[in-house]
Amino acid sequence: MFYRTDPWLHVIAGCMSSGKTDELLRLLRRAEIARRRVVLARPDIDTRTPPDYAESRSKARFPSVLVPRSEPDLVVTLARERDADMVGIEEAEFFESSIIPAVETLRNTGRHVIVTGLNLDFAGRPFNSMPTLLAMADEITMLTAICVVCGATATRTQRLVNGRPAAIDDPLIVVGGLDRAAVETYEARCLVHHEVGAPRGSGPAEWGHRRPEQGAVRAEGRSPERQG
Ligand SMILES: [Zn+2]
Repeated sequence: MFYRTDPWLHVIAGCMSSGKTDELLRLLRRAEIARRRVVLARPDIDTRTPPDYAESRSKARFPSVLVPRSEPDLVVTLARERDADMVGIEEAEFFESSIIPAVETLRNTGRHVIVTGLNLDFAGRPFNSMPTLLAMADEITMLTAICVVCGATATRTQRLVNGRPAAIDDPLIVVGGLDRAAVETYEARCLVHHEVGAPRGSGPAEWGHRRPEQGAVRAEGRSPERQG
């Protein structure tokens, strides 16, 4: 399946806890059995696991290389250096937008590319380069999770700050936590139980998302800062 003459872009998308990494690692292991040269790249924002391997929720591991999120071109360099037939890219939504031409280059040079990422951000908005990568894809796997509130099918990623829904004007990508005191967690939710807090700063909520009750979220002494 994975010959250089078979350029392919497979995008594995879905919310938090939907098993994207497990599915990616399954496909990469299969390719290795087929004696394909495989490389896996991750953005350096992903600090959940040590730098030299990716780990899924089911504790599957695969060697990986951390790439600065601002330099997605380095994935192409890596693939050339390793003479890779197959290139896995995790958390594509965290890379800057030049991940799009980088993926195109990988495919145009006959490589089988498998990209994973959150299709929607914590506020339910299409996430950075993911909508474009999904449109470019030859194959799409859209995974779902289970809502932690009601057990229904979950398609949304809930961000909680100190146990409360994150505000719509919170930074898209949080590097190293919102602040030292804040405890930030993510969980899978269905559309009904997905909540986005009212803006902490001024300005209307974007994307027409429903608002929680007044004063649901309050962070003091922190100025909102948008990123990504
Ligand atoms: Zn639910």
